[in-house]
Amino acid sequence: MTGRVRSRIQVEGIVQGVGFRPFVHALASRYGLAGLVGNDATGVFIEAEGPPAAVTALVEAVRDRAPALAVVERVSVTEVPPTGARGFEIAPSVAGGPRQALVPPDVATCDDCLAELFDPADRRHRYPFVNCTNCGPRFTIITGVPYDRGATTMAGFTMCPPCAAEYRDPGDRRFHAQPVCCPACGPALVLRTSDGAEVPGDPVRAAAAWLAGGAVVAVKGLGGYHLAVDAADETAVATLRARKRREGKAFAVMAADLAAVRGLCEVDDASAGLLTGPRRPIVLLPRRADAPVAPSVVPDGPELGVLLPYTPLHHLLARELARPYVLTSGNVSDEPIAHRDEDARRRLGGIADAFLCHDRAIYTPADDSVVRAFRGAVLPIRRARGYAPEPLALPRAASRPVLACGAELKSTFCLVRGRHAFVSQHLGDLESYETLRAYTTGIERLRRLLGVEPEVVAHDTHPAYLSTTYALGLEGVEFVAVQHHHAHIASCLADNGEAGPVIGVAFDGTGYGADGTIWGGELLVASLTGFRRAGHLEPVPMPGGVTAIRQPWRMAASFLHAASEPAAGLGVARRNAARWPAVSALAARGGRDVPVTSSAGRLFDAVSALLGLHDTVTYEGQAAAALEHRVDPAVRDGYPVTVTPSADDGHPAAVASPVDVEDGRPAVVIRSTDLVRAVAGDLRRGTPSGVIAARFHHGLAAAVVKAVLLVAESTGLGTVALSGGVFANLVLLGGVSDGLRGHGLRVLTHRAVPCNDGGISLGQAAVAAARG
Ligand code: ZN
Ligand code: ZN
Ligand code: FE
Repeated sequence: MTGRVRSRIQVEGIVQGVGFRPFVHALASRYGLAGLVGNDATGVFIEAEGPPAAVTALVEAVRDRAPALAVVERVSVTEVPPTGARGFEIAPSVAGGPRQALVPPDVATCDDCLAELFDPADRRHRYPFVNCTNCGPRFTIITGVPYDRGATTMAGFTMCPPCAAEYRDPGDRRFHAQPVCCPACGPALVLRTSDGAEVPGDPVRAAAAWLAGGAVVAVKGLGGYHLAVDAADETAVATLRARKRREGKAFAVMAADLAAVRGLCEVDDASAGLLTGPRRPIVLLPRRADAPVAPSVVPDGPELGVLLPYTPLHHLLARELARPYVLTSGNVSDEPIAHRDEDARRRLGGIADAFLCHDRAIYTPADDSVVRAFRGAVLPIRRARGYAPEPLALPRAASRPVLACGAELKSTFCLVRGRHAFVSQHLGDLESYETLRAYTTGIERLRRLLGVEPEVVAHDTHPAYLSTTYALGLEGVEFVAVQHHHAHIASCLADNGEAGPVIGVAFDGTGYGADGTIWGGELLVASLTGFRRAGHLEPVPMPGGVTAIRQPWRMAASFLHAASEPAAGLGVARRNAARWPAVSALAARGGRDVPVTSSAGRLFDAVSALLGLHDTVTYEGQAAAALEHRVDPAVRDGYPVTVTPSADDGHPAAVASPVDVEDGRPAVVIRSTDLVRAVAGDLRRGTPSGVIAARFHHGLAAAVVKAVLLVAESTGLGTVALSGGVFANLVLLGGVSDGLRGHGLRVLTHRAVPCNDGGISLGQAAVAAARG
């Protein structure tokens, strides 16, 4: 036994369900080591026995050469007495103890599985559930931890002898792949008509035939049901739009491969990487003019959301149909995605003509993620399938478990265990009972899965958000109220692993301000623990309150009044003539019943309405997106905007906020009415709308830079964090970040969570963790 050592190695991180045990097993045989490897509640444990150099080599390989899907966060090694055992084995999973394990996100079909799928000689040829240790369903089928077959929705399927042999063979790609199955033992596909009758024949071929014939087909995917139609068939797409009661928002399109995507859109390298990567999000891309896509797929805008197949079923369907198909969430309007079979039949029965479904249950629903590439980096827009619930590392660890409840629109929640922040998948707008139920169920399930018992609950300060009501209904916990725009900046800080202080620019549609007015064009001096309002856009009345969000022409009326600009000669007054005088008068009168807002989103709305792009909208951000898309890229100049350090706008509530940096200066005000006056002037001169849109964007960007520089001068801060949904606008994002960098400032933008309210829960969590 001389020269033999035995080490116990504990590996933490995303190490379950990613082929870690076979990887360790292969290493052990390569180095001639005896021992064992297994899953436990904290990750993977290894006992390795043999010559010291070989054990050290194994530890180093575990640290540095882990499987592609694994995230190794910590490796701890302790010496134990050698046992003299021979052979290396996979130990049974150990349940119990404090749960520390991480739940992996779902992974798109790998190349090896894809090759088998289309190999006529393979026993899984055309089998829609082929998967292995490197790919397949994870988060959406996991019902408990440790991650083993018994704790997935595959528990009810008993492996046949060939599958069981692969599962047990350390040299096989399917060694301990929990969802492993085949046509003999696994789930089966079936195509049914909307009245439940089974369609005979091959379900994929039959479904493709229905699609080719113009039908709407519901397809059970990884995180829920989708609705599919032939993307080139205008009648079919328009039918889907009408039945789904979705007016303005674009539909995503699934294309067979990258070559097919290039036929639809301009694809740069960064976007190609996102499209083909294992997370497989919807990627927003500039649409080609000759793209063979029906007009109703994208009612307005130059972009198309495209994704590549990420399950074997999608690959089969794409190849069978041989052209791109719309693949949109299976829901009516803005409800949560349907994921249970009976629920899908009930809710989608009036929309889909046929259902392509199967008997592998979806435990946790997850929509498709949406991203875009900007200057070679990823900008998340909706974080869900393929990303959640992968943890983000907080700049400051929480001393107690935290639940952060998020905002209201684009809702997510976040659980914190130590330095790990688990941001949930996108759950939708918390405005309906259905979404609220998905939200509360989601919290309960992820809490249980991760073993987090929250002691601190963070929430928005808006008293009417359902997320706030939910939070305050929890008992025996400590509450941390986080102002909305502080949460945006904290989210951007956490996203970059920083704690501040920074100058934060939080531009969005709506957030509850510390003074009870509606904020949304804010400059904050902020750290994770506190903030001070250092500047903002000029506040204007919102005639009609929330109605003004759906009717941007009301904001045009308000801004025109605030700018002392007559409405005559601008089409917006004529188009809304019936109600213009009353709304104008309301904006002019103001008063207690007329809310006031500094929102950047409402400013974009107003200008969009002035240009005749959108007098009314059907979803948040629609008017602003149209304005961005109108920008003439050849125009470089911007409207001049006054930026004033204004004493009368100094903010009493801000003084009461916990602040890390104090400068005693009054808030800087960006006179956004200057922009509106200039827009009105250009409109009267007949300037093309593309020129006006460009000058508006560049003028606002320059004004933001100017305001930030004033704050930087008075505080000495050199880092700026950009957040809030308005920064999804690439013209503004590019203009502001270039301008700031040009003045030598550091700029932080989002990388892992969206700049919109989908990122709020992470910000709240970071604040709660930092405050201890
Ligand atoms: Zn695979
Ligand atoms: Zn089998
Ligand atoms: Fe917001």
